[in-house]
This record gives sequence, C-alpha cells and structure tokens, in this order.
Amino acid sequence: MNTESFEIKAYPEMWKDLGMDVERFDKMRLMLGEIYCKTYLTQKNRPARMAYFDEMIAEIHGGRIKELLAAKAEGHPVIGTFCVYIPEEVVLAAGGICVGLCGGSQGSIPDAETILPRNICPMVKSAFGFKVGRVCPYMQVVDFVYGETTCDAKKKTWEILDTMVPTYVMEIPQMKKQSDREMWLHEVKEFKAKIEEVSGKEVTVEGLNEAVKVMNSKRRALQRLNTLRHTHPTPISGKDVLLVEQIAFYDEPVRFAAKVNDLCDELEKRIADGEAVPAKDAIRIMVAGVPMALPNWKLHHLVEGAGAVIVNEESCIGTRYYKDLMDEDGKDMETILADLTKRYMNIDCSCFTPNDERIDQVLKEFRESQADGIIHYSLQFCHTYNIEEIRIREACIKEGIPYMFIESDYSPEDVGQIQTRVEAFLEQIHG
Ligand code: SF4
Ligand code: SF4
Repeated sequence: MNTESFEIKAYPEMWKDLGMDVERFDKMRLMLGEIYCKTYLTQKNRPARMAYFDEMIAEIHGGRIKELLAAKAEGHPVIGTFCVYIPEEVVLAAGGICVGLCGGSQGSIPDAETILPRNICPMVKSAFGFKVGRVCPYMQVVDFVYGETTCDAKKKTWEILDTMVPTYVMEIPQMKKQSDREMWLHEVKEFKAKIEEVSGKEVTVEGLNEAVKVMNSKRRALQRLNTLRHTHPTPISGKDVLLVEQIAFYDEPVRFAAKVNDLCDELEKRIADGEAVPAKDAIRIMVAGVPMALPNWKLHHLVEGAGAVIVNEESCIGTRYYKDLMDEDGKDMETILADLTKRYMNIDCSCFTPNDERIDQVLKEFRESQADGIIHYSLQFCHTYNIEEIRIREACIKEGIPYMFIESDYSPEDVGQIQTRVEAFLEQIHG
C-alpha cells in the first residue's frame, strides 16, 4: 500500500446508528489517515506482509466494527479492556470478544478535560474522552467495559465512566504475597461468573482449555515475531512491530496469529537473505515502560527517524502481554483457574510493590534483544512508572547500559525537545 492509495474507510451510516458524533469523527479519521501515511507508509523496504496490518488500520473504524456487530447479533458479548490483566481466556471460553480501549490519541483529551482533572495520565483521559465525545466506535459497541484498580487515575475514572457505559471493576492486588494471590483467584472466579451471566454461556473445562490454546497460539506468534526482530541486523522496523502489537488488541485472535506467523515466515527469509531494515549498522534501542496505545507512535517515529531502530518493547503493548503462556491441558476448573491466576500474577506492572521482577526482566530483555541502549518511556502523571524509573536507571548504571528517561504525553509540543535528546543519546552510544 502506498501513500496515494491509503485511506481509513468511512462508515457514516454505521457510526450514526452507533450514536456517534459523525462529523467530528470523520475529521479525526482523516487526520489519523494522514498521520499513518506519514509515519508508516513512507518507510522504505517494508516486509510485504505488513499489507495485512495496513488493511487492518484502513478498516479499523469500519470492517472490524462490522465483525463485532455481527458477533453481537449472534449472542457474543464484546468487552472493552484497558489493561492486560483481563483474563482473556475466560472471556473467550464464554463466547465473548475482547477489544482494547486504551486511548493513545490527543484528539479526545479536551473532551475528557471537561469532566476530569487535567493533571492525570493522558491514556486515561484519551480513553475517557472517546466516550464523552462519542468519537470511538469501539466504545459504542461494547456490552461492558472491564476496568481494574492498577492506578488511582483509572480506578476513580471507572466510577464516572460507569454512568455512561456499564463498567465492571476487578481488584488487582498491589503485592504478591500468598493472601494477594488468593484474593486475585477470588476476583477471577467472580469475573467468570459475571461473563457467564452476560453471555448466558457456562465456562466449561473443555471450553477454557480451548481458549487457552487460542491465546497461547496468539502469544506464541508474538513471541516468534519478537525473537526474529532481535536478529542482528533486524529484518523489520520497530514501528512495524509496534503496530502489530497494537493490532493484537483489536483483531480476531485466530486470524491475527495466522497473519503474524505469515509475517514471521517472510522475516525468516529476509534474515536468510541478509535483508536488513533500516540499515545494518543502525543503533539498536530497547524501550521499557508504559504501553503505547494506538495511535501513539511518537517515540518510535522519532527514534527511527534519527536512524536508530527499536528492537524490543518491555511494555504491556509488548512483552508483558505475551511472555507468559498457560498449560493447555488443565484437568479441572480449579487447576486451570489456579494456573491462570499464576500466569496473570507474573505480569510485572509497576502498580506492584516491591516489583524487583520487572528490574530483572528489563535487564534480561536488554540482553536478549542485543540492544545498545534503553529508553524508559513514561506518560506524564503516571506516578508508578515515573518512580519505578529510578530503580531501572540505577540498574542500568550498575550494568553499564546506556540509558535515557523520557516522560511525555500525546501532544506534539515536546517533539522538538525529545528529538534533540534522542539524537544526543544516540550520539553518546555511537561514541
Ligand atoms: S501498565 Fe499496568 S495498568 Fe497498564 S496495561 Fe499494563 S498491567 Fe495494566
Ligand atoms: S500509564 Fe500509569 S497512570 Fe496511566 S493508566 Fe497506566 S498505570 Fe495508570
């Protein structure tokens, strides 16, 4: 696909039926299309099989929504999610569908600020603003929203969001003691009862094992992609991998896994042919920190625009989502739910204290990705990641790893400043 032929498709009739602000959303659609062309379609030497993911973006406000509406008509509930803590296997086993609602766009923030305080994280404001302004078809389609208590901004926002769309909140423990694990298991069981009630379908042992297989396949495909991009030189840009990781939260999981594996087949061939993206001697950067919700491509675009390449995302849009799998042959419900609880408790979100596992994981991923340096990326007002950054920085200094911290939001205002800092960082690595 090229910049001339690319367009994010418009579905005004469907948007109207969904109760959206069609005129305003159409302007946002055009802006997103322009940004996508500039950020993605100007890249040189992209893998041909990225075409599927371009098409997913072209249909993100239409084709995928139609699929969700058709599934709903057949009795499959659609659950909007904000966090990788949602037990997706349980949703799938009940015949439900998960879609990511995390906001990565500046456009909806003014809507949120008519209600919420300004000094909270842009991800929360962006997602909330989509509902307030009626400018996200996913927000309009969902049967209910899954919220969690990972941070203060989110857990208090759910109370307000619940007045606009049903919002179910799961309590995520903030420590990993035995009592916390028991509490989380209890929460998972309650969530299972909730999804069974909404879908009218019981979650069985067979159904849950089947759902685990689907999710494992999806996570394995993402692991394979991440391992391939770690090759030196890398066969795919960081921006493209980020896009695939973002689409993981929207696409149908079986189809998505197949398409990621198709892409991986192509990357294997590129590696064998010595075909590198962008340049064989590009400085390799690993990003760690908060997730980058669609369409937040700001940091990747700046880093790769400066001639470096991003080779890993230690983030919920990256490895935190797919690094851990589950046993596929659970014998009974109690065993499967205990295994599921264990898998999800391995997610090392900064909401936990202490969170030593994450420090070790960052260093491990740095070594595996053969990166030359780490950029810790955080969003403004995200206290847990901003403070945990201190420990990541100390670990990097101790290990002699070139390190930089960037705290940003979704506005274009700090682009020039970040660009200067990124260039200086790359210069420092280059020596
Ligand atoms: S960073 Fe924490 S709160 Fe955010 S998606 Fe990941 S686990 Fe959830
Ligand atoms: S980035 Fe931080 S403040 Fe924002 S939603 Fe995630 S955990 Fe909360």
